[in-house]
Amino acid sequence: MVRKIFVVFLIAATVVYAIALYSAQVQHERWCNEELQSYPVEVRPYVEPLSFWETETGKKFFFGGLCLIWVYAIAIILSGVKDKSLKVFTSAFLVILLATSIVHVLASSQPDVTYDVLVVQDEEFASGTILVPAPPIYFPVPVDANTVAEWAMEDVNETYYTEYGIQLRFHYWYSFHSDDNLYSCYDILMDAISEIGWYWGKEVDGDTMELMVVFTQQKMDGRGLSLPWKRALIVAGVNIDLEKYLLHELGHQFGLEHCSRSCAMNPDPLMTTSYYCLSCSDKIKENKYVLIPPPPLAPRPKSGGKRGLMLYMCY
Ligand SMILES: [Zn+2]
Ligand SMILES: [Zn+2]
Repeated sequence: MVRKIFVVFLIAATVVYAIALYSAQVQHERWCNEELQSYPVEVRPYVEPLSFWETETGKKFFFGGLCLIWVYAIAIILSGVKDKSLKVFTSAFLVILLATSIVHVLASSQPDVTYDVLVVQDEEFASGTILVPAPPIYFPVPVDANTVAEWAMEDVNETYYTEYGIQLRFHYWYSFHSDDNLYSCYDILMDAISEIGWYWGKEVDGDTMELMVVFTQQKMDGRGLSLPWKRALIVAGVNIDLEKYLLHELGHQFGLEHCSRSCAMNPDPLMTTSYYCLSCSDKIKENKYVLIPPPPLAPRPKSGGKRGLMLYMCY
């Protein structure tokens, strides 16, 4: 009787697992398609989304599947099966499974990831100040812009490290001269990219850079812009809100789109917070390793293909 209940339970668990796996894969497929739509048309052929088994959800299903196989194998060994060769085969299978599981756990037991970030400023930002409310009466006093930016980056790093296990190692301060005739975020960022000679994996101080963050006080048509396939972002460093802008543009690098909740990814300045909502946080965790592989080799967008870039313009 107990054995029958156990067999029914095992079959039910297998069916539930199969259905959940199928729907999770369908959902992942849908998410990949949506993700792809967020890139400009000309960049899409070069974007390689994570495979299902590389995501956090996929890893959970992998582990769940292993557990099921274990239960099956143990059931075969413990059941009154007389066939000796079946038992020997099952035992050998279990030993191999145990060994591969240990290797798998050891390989995935490095939850933290460190990214080297090149921090760049233009000449306006280098000599600029930002008004900061100072205690005791919180009257705004001017502080060096790059000092305020360093505070913001320390805060952002603390959030990323404690919540997502992502360590951002900032390499301060590299300079570029922004062309004063430029007004669009995109043009100023591209100006910085070409002047710094930025590309993914650029060697600076003997370290390999994964991301470039540009601060400017030049007047721009937005408060920031993120180009994930270039691993580069620009932030308007004109007021104390630069921390929110940095969180926002950094979020785009980790695959986040604009969000309508009370969240750093909300493009409405009045709704932008200095934290991510739960849904956006989950997505960062899923995309934790996204800055490791080299970005898709994106051709320089032609003038006609700029529409898609508007998605990343954050006013
Ligand atoms: Zn959000
Ligand atoms: Zn945005």
